Amino acid sequence: MGSETEVIIVGGGVAGLCCALKLEESGVPDLLLEASDAVGSRVRTDSVDGFRLDRGFQVLLTAYPEVLRVVNIEMLELGCFYPGALVACDGGLHWVADPWRHPLDALRSAASPVGTLADKLRVWHLRRRARQAHSMTSSGVQSSLRFQPSKRTDSRM
Ligand SMILES: Cc1cc2nc3c(=O)[nH]c(=O)nc-3n(C[C@H](O)[C@H](O)[C@H](O)COP(=O)(O)OP(=O)(O)OC[C@H]3O[C@@H](n4cnc5c(N)ncnc54)[C@H](O)[C@@H]3O)c2cc1C
Repeated sequence: MGSETEVIIVGGGVAGLCCALKLEESGVPDLLLEASDAVGSRVRTDSVDGFRLDRGFQVLLTAYPEVLRVVNIEMLELGCFYPGALVACDGGLHWVADPWRHPLDALRSAASPVGTLADKLRVWHLRRRARQAHSMTSSGVQSSLRFQPSKRTDSRM
């Protein structure tokens, strides 16, 4: 540790890295300590046998104020993924689609072996309520869904 160090940051995940950036910009000498073999944590990508495997963080919410402050969104040249998933199940690959954005593909999802029919109905119901909550808050009406106490996803299902 340098004798000039004023701040020690424990952890080189996205929070620690943003903290280091801010300190650097302010000219405050800092030291970042990371326990694993590289920084990034849940935002890391591992290369395995030619595949790039993300550890987490698939969705970049560009509305986050910190993202806008720290990241040059244009330089990332972001693309849009299909809003759904290709799930390996029962020896095959099956599409699971968002019924509101891909109604036709949602029919294929309904017939796929991914989850039970009851699971699909619960997801559909949850999606419908989230959509209603979004349109109500966009129009200034407070949503009952949004202001209920936080619960785990499985307890909602
Ligand atoms: C599967 C998954 C998917 C996700 N998807 C999204 C998404 O799509 N969009 C989104 O916005 N967010 C997503 N998140 C959440 C997001 O990844 C986290 O909120 C964010 O990465 C947290 O960053 P952090 O720096 O606070 O903590 P972490 O990423 O947990 O970083 C902590 C770091 O500290 C290090 N550390 C811990 N203890 C010590 C110690 N004693 N000494 C030194 N180093 C230490 C760890 O090794 C690690 O590198 C996802 C998370 C997961 C797990």
